[in-house]
Amino acid sequence: MNAIDEIRSAAGAIPDPEMPALTIADLGILRDVRIDASGHVDVDITPTYSGCPALDTIREDVERCVRDQGYADVTVRTVLSPAWTTEWMSEAARVKLREYGIAPPRQGFDLKPLTIAVLCPRCDSTRTHELAHFGSTQCQAVRQCAACGETFPHFKEH
Ligand SMILES: [Zn+2]
Repeated sequence: MNAIDEIRSAAGAIPDPEMPALTIADLGILRDVRIDASGHVDVDITPTYSGCPALDTIREDVERCVRDQGYADVTVRTVLSPAWTTEWMSEAARVKLREYGIAPPRQGFDLKPLTIAVLCPRCDSTRTHELAHFGSTQCQAVRQCAACGETFPHFKEH
């Protein structure tokens, strides 16, 4: 592995503060890693939504991680454009969300919002409805399944 790949894989393995089951690479928060000729490391991160309270924690974790890799000179930049989208989530992230009982964001939702159901993570039923638009985090809604009665969080598309 070259230096950039090593930094990417180390920093990418940092857990998301709000959903520790997922890494910042799983979520697509870690965008770019660069090293210039003098050995200065720049890391770009994009929060899942602007004003995300976990962002300072993520920035500090990334800085510490890069320093631990032997690069003392590091700048972590927050990049807000283009805005983060749930389409950047890895397939591994969607699988992990389901394992934790969270319905993953629907893919292609922006193209056909009314035709894609949120599946119940317990029984796969499409008969689910939203109980509350905001759950334990701003990213999540609370839904209920009409088939099995399960109440579950849904990671909203945006
Ligand atoms: Zn169900």
